[in-house]
Amino acid sequence: MRINIFDIPEEGLEQQFDLPVAIENNTKPDTASVRITILRFGKKVLVDGSVKAAVSLTCSRCLNDFYYPVDLNFREEYVPVDETAPEGDQELSEDELDVGFYKGEEIDLSGIVKEQVLLEIPMKPLCRNDCQGICSRCGADKNVQSCNCKDDHIDPRLAPLAKYKELLNQRKE
Ligand SMILES: [Zn+2]
Ligand SMILES: [Zn+2]
Repeated sequence: MRINIFDIPEEGLEQQFDLPVAIENNTKPDTASVRITILRFGKKVLVDGSVKAAVSLTCSRCLNDFYYPVDLNFREEYVPVDETAPEGDQELSEDELDVGFYKGEEIDLSGIVKEQVLLEIPMKPLCRNDCQGICSRCGADKNVQSCNCKDDHIDPRLAPLAKYKELLNQRKE
């Protein structure tokens, strides 16, 4: 989604558009519906946006696909890149971190929308907070069926510890 800054009238510009957002490891591209208000002060541009999307994710416990609702607001300020400045002079000072840059007359809003959506996606998505996951022995989805596997197996991450304990016991004997 590109906006020409000279298309932004004095009173501001309101726009609504759909944007495909592809999440990593996600086979289906999802669509975000975006609503933005753009104000321009000389060459400085202020963008207020709201993004709504249902992003399809894979649950990290049961591996089922589910839709994760995203509903967020963002505000970003854009200033033109100073193409005459010598390199190195454009490093961001700390209070400029929320500032985006545009080149020429166009601002591309796709990047900021995708970035905002990605920030909302959990690292380990869960289809629901109490997802029971998959039985590590028989592979049954424990959300829909119970299995008869006993839960007495040792967590593989703790196995070295168990071995160590065994060694200690042997030494005592
Ligand atoms: Zn799940
Ligand atoms: Zn099982």
